[in-house]
Amino acid sequence: MSEITALGLYSGGLDSLLACRVIAAQGIRVIALKFVTPFFDHDLLTREEEFQREVMRKHGVDVRLVDLSEGYIELLRNPAHGYGKHFNPCIDCKIFMLTRARELMPRYDASFLFTGEVLGQRPMSQRRDTLRVIERDSKCEDILLRPLCAKRLDPTRPEREGMVDREKLYGFSGRGRKDQMALAREFGITEYPAPAGGCILTDPNLGARIERFYQGHFATGRESIEVGDIKLLQVGRQFLLPGGTWLVLGRKQAENERIKKLYEPGDWLLKMEDRPGPTGLLRRAEQTVAGTEQEEEILRLAAGLVVRYGKKIHGETPPATVRIYGEGKEETMTAHPVDGTDFAC
Ligand code: SF4
Repeated sequence: MSEITALGLYSGGLDSLLACRVIAAQGIRVIALKFVTPFFDHDLLTREEEFQREVMRKHGVDVRLVDLSEGYIELLRNPAHGYGKHFNPCIDCKIFMLTRARELMPRYDASFLFTGEVLGQRPMSQRRDTLRVIERDSKCEDILLRPLCAKRLDPTRPEREGMVDREKLYGFSGRGRKDQMALAREFGITEYPAPAGGCILTDPNLGARIERFYQGHFATGRESIEVGDIKLLQVGRQFLLPGGTWLVLGRKQAENERIKKLYEPGDWLLKMEDRPGPTGLLRRAEQTVAGTEQEEEILRLAAGLVVRYGKKIHGETPPATVRIYGEGKEETMTAHPVDGTDFAC
């Protein structure tokens, strides 16, 4: 093993794994950086060591998690290069990741960076001119190698200085997967990794909901957006009540548990007393609902939705007692089911 270390961007998908293997095959020490934000793979932070062991065991790659939440949440407000088909700011996202990777180079004594990008594979972020913009704006010109398509690009410093043998790199391009599959076979990779959780910003429904949140449709989050808000946007049924009051209901037990975990001081929880039903959460109700003219109406709707999605009795949904509670809040009310169609978001 040489003294040279390289940092790779590791999504968890096949291309980034192949890039790691191609560089490691040249005797270079590879450290794979797996970036996480509340929009992708954030839960890995709760099992970091297990994830590292898993990737090492399955793929022989030394992976480190890097939490990009701070900064990324702001980046999404106004990405310089705009959004993709949905709410995905892919170009700015890559620039942000590479900037962070470059900043981490001294910590690992790394000589260069690499990614598994393939020229022309994605319409927006992997065009030749876009690859150049990404390098330029992340200040990674000349230190960023793309081993899977390097032969179609100008030689970079690691190639020119002999750290990497350009002849042993590849010239893949386009959307086909045949070349990658063949290379995977050469490396004996039979189990193709799926990216850990995927990026919700490319999901039409979730992406649109997050966009509405950023646009200020919700009473909360207009000024500051927290990691917990983004996580809550991904759980259960979501409703926007009058005034932009944000209600979330669990659809099953696991979501009810998740909602309770995402509770923050100032939120109000809702639960039916008489029979099983969803856990409800009114985000920051203490600020946005308490003491307002609409409080009574909002609680009637929120409690009514809890009843509506609760357990039926002989096919019917009779009124039920709903407890509303949180720091400084304790109340029960009898609620009738409410049709949530107009409030769903
Ligand atoms: S799909 Fe998501 S994680 Fe991937 S580059 Fe685009 S915004 Fe970033």
